[in-house]
Amino acid sequence: MMQRLLNNLRFKLLQARGLTELPVLPSTVAPSSRTLDEREMYPHLFPNYHPEPVPEITVGSIILWVLLKLAVLIPAMWFLMERYKWHQYWFAALGILWLVVVYPAFMQYQQFKAQTHVLEKNALCAKCRHFDETGHFCKLLDEHVSVQHTPCGGERWEARQSFGSDDDETFS
Ligand code: SF4
Repeated sequence: MMQRLLNNLRFKLLQARGLTELPVLPSTVAPSSRTLDEREMYPHLFPNYHPEPVPEITVGSIILWVLLKLAVLIPAMWFLMERYKWHQYWFAALGILWLVVVYPAFMQYQQFKAQTHVLEKNALCAKCRHFDETGHFCKLLDEHVSVQHTPCGGERWEARQSFGSDDDETFS
């Protein structure tokens, strides 16, 4: 009861300072290794905050961009090498592939892992067999999952096969 009153008081103070209407930072401004911010850790203090359930990056989007970039770069480099006889600069072509394709994909994957880490705070979906970690969505309902959004509300939850195994820390 007392805790609830204190929470209400803190929320009113934050509301008076206009801090409950904080905008969601766009992905270009947000740090690459995103961690839980106050709005996600204390949802009762920020009832107006609804993080976007659609993930910014998925394994599928990373692979798609790699394929698209390769589809453009390889023919372009092939053409330039044949046209201008630049065969001796093959190492430069490898460098371009690294800079344009491999390194951005690696960085995006790091960002994806950070997103997954945040999503693990939604313990219900993270321990459910219908949760797809590579796309951050529920396979049963075909909906994206977020820290605060459980599409089925817990009604369709089914334990993963690894649930209860030695490496599972749910009850530890
Ligand atoms: S069935 Fe429910 S608990 Fe399981 S992943 Fe889908 S939304 Fe989450």
